[in-house]
Amino acid sequence: MAPVLLCLALAMDFQRTIRKPVTMEGVGLHSGERVRLTISPAAADTGILFRASDGTFIPASVDHVVDSNSATTIGAFGMRVRTVEHLMAAAAGLGIDNLLADVDAEEVPAADGSAKPFVELLQAAGRATLPAPRKPLVVEEPVRVGDEKRWLEILPADSFRISYTLDNSHPAIGLQVGTFAVDEQVFVDELAPARTYGFLKDVAAMRQHGLARGGSLDNAIVVGKRTVLNDSLRFADEFMRHKVLDLVGDLFLLGRPLLGHVIGRNAGHALNYQLVAAVQKAASAERRRARARAVAEATTLRAEPAVGGEGFVPGIAAL
Ligand SMILES: [Zn+2]
Repeated sequence: MAPVLLCLALAMDFQRTIRKPVTMEGVGLHSGERVRLTISPAAADTGILFRASDGTFIPASVDHVVDSNSATTIGAFGMRVRTVEHLMAAAAGLGIDNLLADVDAEEVPAADGSAKPFVELLQAAGRATLPAPRKPLVVEEPVRVGDEKRWLEILPADSFRISYTLDNSHPAIGLQVGTFAVDEQVFVDELAPARTYGFLKDVAAMRQHGLARGGSLDNAIVVGKRTVLNDSLRFADEFMRHKVLDLVGDLFLLGRPLLGHVIGRNAGHALNYQLVAAVQKAASAERRRARARAVAEATTLRAEPAVGGEGFVPGIAAL
C-alpha cells in the first residue's frame, strides 16, 4: 500500500504561504499617498487577508469588493484597500494561497505599475507548503458577462488558460491578441512585468475624481496623443498583457485556483468583477445541486430494503 499512498500524496496539491514577513514602501497609484505594505505568512484556508491601518481585517474575496472602477477596491466596516489586483496576481501566479497583508494607508503601493516587484517580494520571502489540500474551482458550465463590444467568458478546461483581445483605436495600441497557459513560469516571464497604462488626455479628469494622483512615468505607461511617452515598452503588446495580469489578480478573488479557459475582449476591472461574481454564484449553485444529489442517493440507498430487514422511509432518512 505504501507506494500507492506515496503516489496519492505526490499527486495532491497542497496550499502554500510564505516563510517570513517582507515589506515594501511606495505611493498609491490613485491616492498618491505614501504606504507601507508588510506581507506575512498565514495559516491554511486564510486566503489573502488584508489588515487596514486600524486593525480591520478585509478578506480579498468577491464578497468584499466595494469598487471595481479603474482598480479593484475591497472593504469592510468602512475601511478599504484600493488597487489590490497586482499583489493578488503575483500571489496567484506563484501559487501562494494564504497571506496576511498589512497596509498603513488606503492603497497597495503602485510599485512600477506591474506585478513584477510583488513577485520579487514574495520570492524573497520564500514559500512554505501547508498541510492542507488546495481545492481548485472547476468550471462546469460556460459563464459569460458583458455585451457584444466588451465581454468575458469562461469555459470548462483541464487547466487555467486566458485568451484575450484588446482592440483599441489609439495608434499606439491597436489590435493586440494573446493566449496564455498560465503556469508559474508563464506568469513570471510573460505577464508579471506588464505595466498598467493610462491616457494623458484623461489624467486631469481622473485626478479630479481622486484617481491617478500617484501615477507617473515611473509606475505606468502614459499614452500621449499619438505615441507612448515612456522611453520604451517591455513587450510590443504590453497593454494586452497587463489586461491579462489584471484578470489573473481579479480571478483570485475566488480564493482558490481556477480550472477553466477565460476568453475576453476589451474588459476592465468592472467586468472582471462581474465574471468573478457570476462564477462564484454558479459554483455555489453547483455545490447545492451536488449536496442535493448526495442526499437523494443516500435516501435511495437507505430506502432499499436490507437483506432480512426493512428499508428506511424515504424523506425521513434525508433529514
Ligand atoms: Zn492593473
